[in-house]
Amino acid sequence: MTETRELSPQARAVLRDHATERPFTSPLNDEKRVGDFHCAGCGTLLYESGTKYDSGSGWPSFWAAVPDAVATTTDTSMGMTRTEVHCAKCEGHLGHIFPDGPRPTGQRHCINGLALEFHPKA
Ligand SMILES: [Zn+2]
Repeated sequence: MTETRELSPQARAVLRDHATERPFTSPLNDEKRVGDFHCAGCGTLLYESGTKYDSGSGWPSFWAAVPDAVATTTDTSMGMTRTEVHCAKCEGHLGHIFPDGPRPTGQRHCINGLALEFHPKA
């Protein structure tokens, strides 16, 4: 696994150990500015503000990722079958994808804010 950045213990727990932050704790949940969301682990651009929406879940939510920026695996932990989503470059865990998102994709990328860095566009 590529380790290119110093991570906080909280970010490390999410990215490397698949932890989930408590809902409504990330300042990025309410982030409404135009900008880009990068992987906190390696800096890769993962999501853009144009695909962010308020899902009410308490986690930053997107209906699509930047093409080829993320990859998925099937997660059967916690007695559920879920689609786990991670950074395609450093494999850092980001969150999960659920099939209850808005158009046009119908996907809800439910992402831990700790796994993201927001870069507002000036
Ligand atoms: Zn990454």
